[in-house]
Amino acid sequence: MPSVGEASARQLAGRCLCGSVRYAVADAFDYCLNCHCGNCRRTTGSAFKPFAGIARDALRLLEGEDQLLVFGEPDGHDAHCAKCGSLLFSVVRDGAFVHVALGTLQDDPTIRPTAHIFVGSKAPWFTIADDLPQYEGHVTAHDPASAQPRAGRAP
Ligand SMILES: [Zn+2]
Ligand SMILES: [Zn+2]
Repeated sequence: MPSVGEASARQLAGRCLCGSVRYAVADAFDYCLNCHCGNCRRTTGSAFKPFAGIARDALRLLEGEDQLLVFGEPDGHDAHCAKCGSLLFSVVRDGAFVHVALGTLQDDPTIRPTAHIFVGSKAPWFTIADDLPQYEGHVTAHDPASAQPRAGRAP
């Protein structure tokens, strides 16, 4: 299939729990991972965070931009709904990318998680029961062979 530009890509709808914040994102994610780092566990309250990464300008807020609770810096933060607290997405990589929290999508994205990352920080009470590759630390989906535990901020 020929590659489709993000501008013409199918759009996926997403929203927070209370519906105050709604967004659309192109169904053209560059990578999709399950992150087990402590930050992702705490911000979601879950065993891990499934997320998918895409250029920041591929995500558009349709409603509730003034309802966003931003935790972090302008170019690196988690964006929650200020009313219900849902984590919608994170702005990462110096503001160039967003990591969409997959649980807030209403539509089914084409991409699927390809690996578990930061498994070195995994909750001891959770057992990974699939066959996806596991990485102690960070990995980029483009080059899994270069996986290395990495110091610094988790995605
Ligand atoms: Zn909300
Ligand atoms: Zn993480």
